[in-house]
Amino acid sequence: MSHRFPFTFTFFPLLKPTFVQLLDPVCISFMQLTLSNRFSLSLSPLQPQPRFGLLFDIDGVLVRGRMLIPAAKVAFEKLVDSQGRFVVPVVFVTNAGNCLRQTKADQLSHILGVPITHDQVIMSHSPLRMFKKFHDKCVLVSGQGPVLEIADNVGFKNVISIDMVRESYPLLDMVDHNRRPKLPSSPLVNLPKIEAVVLFGEPVRWETNLQLIIDVLLTHGNLNTPHQTHAVPHLPLLACNMDLMWMAEANSPRFGHGTFLVCLENIYKKITGVDLKYEALMGKPSELTYHFAESLIRSQALQRQWELPITSLYAIGDNLMTDIYGANMYNRFLEERAARKNPKAVAKVAAATGSSAAMPGGEEEIDSMWESELALPSATSCKSILVCTGVYNPNAEVPSDASRCIKETVFHGHRDFRFDPALVEPGHIVKDVAEAVDLIFQQEKFVPQ
Ligand SMILES: [Mg+2]
Repeated sequence: MSHRFPFTFTFFPLLKPTFVQLLDPVCISFMQLTLSNRFSLSLSPLQPQPRFGLLFDIDGVLVRGRMLIPAAKVAFEKLVDSQGRFVVPVVFVTNAGNCLRQTKADQLSHILGVPITHDQVIMSHSPLRMFKKFHDKCVLVSGQGPVLEIADNVGFKNVISIDMVRESYPLLDMVDHNRRPKLPSSPLVNLPKIEAVVLFGEPVRWETNLQLIIDVLLTHGNLNTPHQTHAVPHLPLLACNMDLMWMAEANSPRFGHGTFLVCLENIYKKITGVDLKYEALMGKPSELTYHFAESLIRSQALQRQWELPITSLYAIGDNLMTDIYGANMYNRFLEERAARKNPKAVAKVAAATGSSAAMPGGEEEIDSMWESELALPSATSCKSILVCTGVYNPNAEVPSDASRCIKETVFHGHRDFRFDPALVEPGHIVKDVAEAVDLIFQQEKFVPQ
């Protein structure tokens, strides 16, 4: 059986047939003539007021590696007015996490040719702003890039890096013989007790980070003591970005942070016999990320004095297991919430999706946390749109035996997320992001001036 995308999974033939929806120019003209009444509540008759917001994935949708996908340019010309202002609320939701939001916003502004602010960017670590109970604790951070700056930016005030641990405890990092201390060495005990561990993304030296994170977990943050393999529960662990693999310029996908987490989870379990537990998992497809995105969409509408509530969200992505699964899971939450207006809906969604690990301290706690931090969502739906410019390939070979195929499905989602075929079925499949924007404008009967 041949798979063009072995890093996702093989159930795609069970999806409904692709239906790329093309706009009919005659239909657009008709819409232009008839829509003025619909937007009669707009602040200006020339500027229709949107009731929907857009969530764009970046890699595979707008860019491929460092190359702009040409359809992105076309799409964004439709999304800004003559003054370069967005005509609908737009956020960019990426699982990347090795830079600041401002850096990503600057890159996007440059590559797309439209002004984008940091308030429009959601990195995998952005929801950490909501975890205020950890902001004053001493946290160990793992990742690459400006991790100390990122930690400071999301609110942590007392941060220790892996390199700081290495320098204070030179006998701990022993895998690379060339990095072992040349002379007899003893710990330089000047680090405070570590109280939590935050995993931003895949590090450069995996063996060093795996060793030191395990050391911190098994010593309860006090590296002067030996491992206590029966001491459970371990320190709180927060992880951003669960992507097992990601697609860059190479023909085949590359290790992502999810692969690093697989290593950490298995080493911990092998040593202790018990499962590693996460206080929170964030980044797509975690619901936390979508709550945060929805709040930013609402803020944008407020800033622009668009008075109509944003009721529909559209998430455009190239990855079934992150973009589509996440959008569909959030849609399930919104629909349940709208149907019942019942806070227990969160718990039911979590139970249905097996995403309890994404809920720090249990469903009710996360429920109250994001609701107190972000206020209630105005959206009642989140529709998923899959593009074919990234990891998803509509031309992959169809296995002859689909039912056998699903049994053999290799689930590349995180350990704590259950595979649910309904959640990986996109609302729409389109060729590229320009078609996605056309489709959304058509569905919303939206004609920008
Ligand atoms: Mg992508």
